[in-house]
Amino acid sequence: MAVRITSPAFKANARQALADAPLQTSMRNLEVNFIGRRRAAAERLPEFEALRDAARDIKDHTLAHLDLYLTAFEDKVVQAGGHVHWAATAEDARTIVLDICKRLGARTVTKGKSMISEEIALNEHLEQNGVTPVETDLGEYIIQLRGEMPSHIIAPAVHLTREQVEGDFRRAHTHLPKDRNLDEAATMLAEARGVLRGRFLAADVGITGANFLIAETGTSVIVTNEGNGDLTQTLPKAHIVLASIEKVVPTLEDATTLLRVLARSATGQEQAVYTTFSTGPRRAADPDGPGEYHVVLLDNGRSRMLGTPFQPMLRCIRCGACFNHCPVYQRVGGHAYGWVYGGPMGAVLTPTLIGIHQAGHLPNASTFCGRCEDVCPMRIPLPKMMRHWRERQFEKSQMPLAERYALDAWAYFARRGWLYRPASRLGVAALRLLAFGRGRLRWLPFAGGWTSQRDLPAPAGTTFQAAWKQHVKARRRAAR
Ligand code: SF4
Repeated sequence: MAVRITSPAFKANARQALADAPLQTSMRNLEVNFIGRRRAAAERLPEFEALRDAARDIKDHTLAHLDLYLTAFEDKVVQAGGHVHWAATAEDARTIVLDICKRLGARTVTKGKSMISEEIALNEHLEQNGVTPVETDLGEYIIQLRGEMPSHIIAPAVHLTREQVEGDFRRAHTHLPKDRNLDEAATMLAEARGVLRGRFLAADVGITGANFLIAETGTSVIVTNEGNGDLTQTLPKAHIVLASIEKVVPTLEDATTLLRVLARSATGQEQAVYTTFSTGPRRAADPDGPGEYHVVLLDNGRSRMLGTPFQPMLRCIRCGACFNHCPVYQRVGGHAYGWVYGGPMGAVLTPTLIGIHQAGHLPNASTFCGRCEDVCPMRIPLPKMMRHWRERQFEKSQMPLAERYALDAWAYFARRGWLYRPASRLGVAALRLLAFGRGRLRWLPFAGGWTSQRDLPAPAGTTFQAAWKQHVKARRRAAR
């Protein structure tokens, strides 16, 4: 199965994104739709910070006993009449899902939003084997029409303008009148609903992701704002939940704590519009629901993260807050990251899943401003983990040669104080000269990429070491 990865071309992707006018227009919506709303929601809840601590602790506890909670979850699913399938790799997960579809003679499957299915390239696999997948989340439906990947984990089509979506709908929905009004989001939503209604009814299997899996009850939880997840999982013959192993939490109460930070961090809502708990298949007295309930538990490299400096990444609840607040993501959008996960969480997770040799640019595409960590509801130390990846790249000599030589040269001087001091004095004087008295440099040899976007302030005084020496002298004088 070919997996579309363009992470090694991050720099070229980013350049293309910066020159993409519609993309730059769409990305401005992040500020309006996500950042302000999250801030307001957090301010309305006095215990928000305490909830973040509680949420982090729940996940840390679960990760420390992951085997125990996953086994408990499996037992409960089986007791409720469901099936649990363990998938070590993406290929295993694809095979399990396709086998279920084939056994049920499925021709169409509906899908509720699931990043995991993007991670394992499930749609392509189903299509190649004669099963038609239909995305039912509006954003996912739009990007499926375009043959694209999501560019954000909670707003997959955030990179598109209204005009682009209108064009897609007119191109795809040729059975509808040409002169229909598609000037507003509401009319487009109504059109998508109308088209999807028939697909919901025709689907043989429904596939959803899971925001949480509850070990206490064997329940999968999904949150949506469109209700498409409910129709996906209740109407067809079978419901397949695709979830990665770290989605498990011990109890219902733990899940509700996490839900309280999830919606506020993601969209600034107190709760998502639909929060659906599913336990097993339809029971005898139930008026509706799927006849079969399957959970596919995907590892795909996550268990390798346990016990390493990257373990805290497994606390992630996919709220997208780190994306919205990241100055790099805000400018280049999600597709530049070259695979399923973008933004700061992708910069940490993607190298784990596809290898640092392919995703090495991502942890370097950060200003280290720390906003991602400030807003992460799970208090994941994202900058620290990006630094770990940078260190590993350095150790494996995977950095660009120019950077390596520059760091080696700096280390040579830094280890020899008697050389470092005069060299830095010389450097400061040279930078002041190059600024021609303007106090800033518009261009610097070997740093053109940096100065092409902003000026570099010229050193105002002397070197740090000289200033420190002065400071110590002054303190001594004052103490006498
Ligand atoms: S890393 Fe934190 S902020 Fe980013 S998606 Fe995950 S939980 Fe949300």
